[in-house]
Amino acid sequence: MLETTIIILILLTAILSSKFLAKKPLQPQIDIPRKPFPTEWKSILEKQWPLYLRLPKELQDQLEQLTLLFIERIDIRGAEGLKITDEIRVLTASQACLLLVNQNTFFPDKLRSVIIRPKGYTATKQEAYGGIHTEKNIQVLGQSWESGLVVLSWDNTKSGAQNTKDGRNLVLHEFAHQLDQADGLADGAPILGSKEQYKQWRKVCTRVFADLQQKVESGDKTVIDYYGATNPAEFFSVTTETFFEKPYYLKKKRPELYELFAEYYKVDPLTWN
Ligand SMILES: [Zn+2]
Repeated sequence: MLETTIIILILLTAILSSKFLAKKPLQPQIDIPRKPFPTEWKSILEKQWPLYLRLPKELQDQLEQLTLLFIERIDIRGAEGLKITDEIRVLTASQACLLLVNQNTFFPDKLRSVIIRPKGYTATKQEAYGGIHTEKNIQVLGQSWESGLVVLSWDNTKSGAQNTKDGRNLVLHEFAHQLDQADGLADGAPILGSKEQYKQWRKVCTRVFADLQQKVESGDKTVIDYYGATNPAEFFSVTTETFFEKPYYLKKKRPELYELFAEYYKVDPLTWN
């Protein structure tokens, strides 16, 4: 385990260093439009997503405009006979767009489609150890592909919205992967603004990630879900869920990580009532 941790840390350091130097294209800059947000859609958010009601008015406005943009740009399609309704469309788009408020950017251009399945499903996971490739079937709730496709299960999209304090939100999780993958690398570091920010990101995340892995190994209680110890990419997505849904505990237990995420997402969920 320790060897694995060290190898991952070395890789993370190398990737983060090369990432900044490589000057990958940034996410598209956007001008948020000012269009009317349908009353029925607002009522879906008010009824189904308690977090929306806690947002300051200014962020609600931004979120509504981003939701309109998302629905205009991204193809949301049902699978296995699931018919896409306004409820599905709005609840999916708005949860994803929470990651974008105050950012003046949108998801990477390569993000084109979201496929919604009725429930969790079985996916094939490919693994390679020591030159041996294996495939196994695993149960998943959703997936994010670097090519620009996100797959979600509707039952978890809905329950994730309804329970806003358990630190688990499928949509935030999968779309955080899209932000991480924006530069083509699923390495746990999204596109940041400065060399100093990358340095700080590497420093804090490397330390907390290693600590989380140790705690998972010894079965200790953690504020960040155990799944975050899987690899740096999952660490970023799981911490994103914790940041938005358990800000009090994240700040209490990992203040330096909370500050880092507050700086990146440009919001402070602790101040939302
Ligand atoms: Zn994930």
